[in-house]
Amino acid sequence: MKLVFASNNKNKIAEIQQMLPSNISILSLEEIGCYEDIPETASTIEGNAILKANYVTEKFGYNCFADDTGLEVEALNGDPGVYSARYAGEHKDANDNMNKLLSELENQNNRNAQFKTVIALNIEGNQNLFTGIIEGTIIDTKRGDKGFGYDPIFVPKNHNVTFAEMVMEEKAILSHRGIATRKLVDFLNKSSTP
Ligand code: IMP
Repeated sequence: MKLVFASNNKNKIAEIQQMLPSNISILSLEEIGCYEDIPETASTIEGNAILKANYVTEKFGYNCFADDTGLEVEALNGDPGVYSARYAGEHKDANDNMNKLLSELENQNNRNAQFKTVIALNIEGNQNLFTGIIEGTIIDTKRGDKGFGYDPIFVPKNHNVTFAEMVMEEKAILSHRGIATRKLVDFLNKSSTP
């Protein structure tokens, strides 16, 4: 079975491909000739994952899955949430985003936050959602140079180091995306077993 991942991120695609049974092959957006910027205009993380998956299924006719992620900060009523990538503006700069968040949280004692990933899967006319959440805290200065996005200021619960101080494998075991991806893979493994 061919299954489109609504992404052109080669690392994410390779990572998922090697977790799947050999009868499922993942195609990127480029590989199906989809070069347009898929609109991410929903007001929730779930909504954006669904928008992306439906765009591919409706326009190109493929079974497809898409992911969307956001950082939800308790003291900011869940912001930046669905707007995490462009929190400090459309230029989508990770440092500017972190600086804005740190300044919003200045003098704030409640530093609780969570990353949330939702994967929407369209398969044979059905839709399934898989959610991964990791709770943690936002520290007040950046630490570490690995990872991306908000990693240098996020310390997962029951840990002392930020995501940016962890090796990739360690982050993948704990992370929101890792949790949601393993749920997707379990589902596909079960549904492809006769
Ligand atoms: P996306 O939906 O995977 O593109 O993620 C949206 C935004 O959330 C990214 O641009 C980052 O700012 C942030 N983000 C997503 N995943 C992570 C992560 O694992 N670590 C830190 N920031 C992340």
